[in-house]
Amino acid sequence: MVIKGSDIARQMEKNLRQEVTRLKERKIMPTAAIVRVGENPSCIVYGRSAEKKLEAVGISVRRVAFPGDIAQGAFMEEFKKINNDPEIHGILLLRPLPLHLDEKAISAEVNPLKDVDAISPMNMYKVMAGDITAFSPCTPEAVIDIIDYLGIGLEGKKVAIMGASMVVGLPLFLLMLNRNATCVQCHIHTKDLAKECGDAEIVVVAAGKRGLIRSEHIAPRAIVIDVGINVGEDGRLYGDVSFEEVVLKAGYITPVPGGVGAVTSAVLASHVVKAAKMLYAV
Ligand code: NAD
Repeated sequence: MVIKGSDIARQMEKNLRQEVTRLKERKIMPTAAIVRVGENPSCIVYGRSAEKKLEAVGISVRRVAFPGDIAQGAFMEEFKKINNDPEIHGILLLRPLPLHLDEKAISAEVNPLKDVDAISPMNMYKVMAGDITAFSPCTPEAVIDIIDYLGIGLEGKKVAIMGASMVVGLPLFLLMLNRNATCVQCHIHTKDLAKECGDAEIVVVAAGKRGLIRSEHIAPRAIVIDVGINVGEDGRLYGDVSFEEVVLKAGYITPVPGGVGAVTSAVLASHVVKAAKMLYAV
């Protein structure tokens, strides 16, 4: 069965719209700042798309743009104001930042309670500790939401994760562990992928390698979640899973495009709402 991310996102957005309406009735206006430095085209595109998604559920967006040559000190000063502004509940810092800026130092400055994109090291610690105030990175949380949507309990499930990056694979491992799954984390140095994921009930692929997972890698009726995004020579988007053959063997599978990506945007919006609710303890 092919899992449509857009169906899941639509349901999440419907619930979020209701939550935002309830907050507005209490005079709380959930607000996100989208912060951009310079004119990086991918940041501009992603910023616009995030803005549309947030506004679609009623979240107010403040666009903050700085010149590409802003000095570290000056940026930190300005960033502090956004961090401390009580009317801003969530901060999305568009990356990559210009090379002269110290991205690690800036990420560490983000107020963890406004860190809706989960770039602050404190949030990673909170995810590890299973702290309910944590913001998990949006994509791994989207994977968990998809599995929840299917009504499949994670407790005791064997999960194989392809990829171990700080953005997807590693935080996903922690989220799975928090839900009492038994996980195997595979990466570029893993010797035998088929052996590691061949008996997994859930296989999540986030390696950025088109066609990495084929039908011989998965157990019959496994749940296959494809996070990968690869641009083919034809300009189309492809996942990391060889969809045409794996769909015939899997129990559930997410397509690319139209799978995890759609849910990821809804998760970002849910984080802004969560941040506003945490601030006012409602
Ligand atoms: P990354 O390059 O930072 O990490 C890739 C990981 O995959 C590494 O841990 C690496 O060891 C592992 N890997 C690479 N080749 C492998 C192989 N042959 N076998 C096993 N493991 C291998 O990438 P990332 O930021 O984690 O992103 C992974 C993919 O997910 C990319 O295609 C990216 O575009 C996509 N992505 C999608 C979304 C979304 O919302 N759908 C969000 C973020 C990333």
